[in-house]
Amino acid sequence: MNVEDSEQMERFLQDLGLRRVERDEEADVILLNTCSVRKKPEDKAFSYLGELRKLKEQKPSLVIGVCGCMAQLRHEEIRRRCPHVDFIIGTAQVAQIPALVREARQKRRFLLRMDLPPRKGAIVTDVPQRHLGQPGAVKLKAFVPIQYGCDKFCTFCIVPTTRGRERSRSTQDILEEIRALAERGTKEITLLGQTVNSYGKNLLEGKVPFAKLLLAIAEIPGIERIRYTSPYPRDYRDDLIRVHRECPKVMPHVHLPLQSGNDKVLKEMRRLYTVDEFKAVYWRLREEVPDIAITTDLIVGFPGETEEEFQDTLKVVEELRFDSAFMFAYSPRPGTKAADREDQIPKATKRRRLGELIELQNRITCEINAEQVGRTYEVMVEGPAERQPVGAQLWKGLTRQGKTVHFEGGVSPGDMISVTTVESHLWGFLGRIVS
Ligand code: SF4
Repeated sequence: MNVEDSEQMERFLQDLGLRRVERDEEADVILLNTCSVRKKPEDKAFSYLGELRKLKEQKPSLVIGVCGCMAQLRHEEIRRRCPHVDFIIGTAQVAQIPALVREARQKRRFLLRMDLPPRKGAIVTDVPQRHLGQPGAVKLKAFVPIQYGCDKFCTFCIVPTTRGRERSRSTQDILEEIRALAERGTKEITLLGQTVNSYGKNLLEGKVPFAKLLLAIAEIPGIERIRYTSPYPRDYRDDLIRVHRECPKVMPHVHLPLQSGNDKVLKEMRRLYTVDEFKAVYWRLREEVPDIAITTDLIVGFPGETEEEFQDTLKVVEELRFDSAFMFAYSPRPGTKAADREDQIPKATKRRRLGELIELQNRITCEINAEQVGRTYEVMVEGPAERQPVGAQLWKGLTRQGKTVHFEGGVSPGDMISVTTVESHLWGFLGRIVS
């Protein structure tokens, strides 16, 4: 979501005739898009803003803006600690960026645009979605936000505070945007939402089930691959599983956030499912969607998590064998219920538990990938691989399951090819083109 927001911001800056530069020293405007999901990115943002102070002293015409969730939440502190910042905006004011940059350049006084995040049922978004890109450049893959905010209020999460209540974009707007993308050459889209599969409530046009939206997108000529992230486990319904099974354009990859393998912890996290309910969705997807990859999110060291409860998470991970996982030590977010609890887990314990979990999951990922060596996958070529071994020119692409494959060959971005995997790694595969 944050990456997509940054792209939107870049498009607004392009409207002002600005273009991206490689180094801070070359910039006339620096916009820092912040994240509040954990403490570490917030610390990094403050440290980066500290570095920018010197740059601003050397180049007083530089305009520095701060936006994103941390700006929404901690704007007073940013203002106090970073007086060299020219403007701060909240998560709902992205469309105001061009006007703010213009004003900051002319008037040289601090500007703040900080409405509360939109309430339930309020306007969808004030950000017109556009995908300009470079003239003539084809954007093979695009993110398309379809839902903003969240109504779930997990006790560890700050998103409902920073991004407001759940709002869905109109189906018509989404389809128009994707049609325009397809006409410009986009082949793969990823639909974005905090709980993306609960899309479609409170729309003026009436309730539109997420599964129906997927089918409508699949009708758009040129769109070959549809992904989405992140779904909420409890909101998986029969029609969505059916679409996965029957619609070849909906990719067999689901990122299904578990968070904990213990019912008491899940309840205290206010995740609205039990471990058994999660497993029921998980096994249905595995059984009904051939070759599906399922990945997850896990948090260790939630307040009050005992050693036994942590072991429950390890047991569930061992049993379910996710293809991969994003794993984190719990990070208290001021303003959330869990952050106020007194039974916080010591840092060293959290670190140790995280290490054990990562070791287990990495072993499972390596085993699963090793089992998939020698199989042939459809891969969409994306471009040259980031790391090139001496003497080879490797390309990279994703399988339908969302796994990375590197391979040699005379291909072009956007080609759909068949690749047989010859070597497995934690990150994916080396492969050989077969057609
Ligand atoms: S579902 Fe929970 S974790 Fe996800 S965005 Fe909503 S409140 Fe946060």
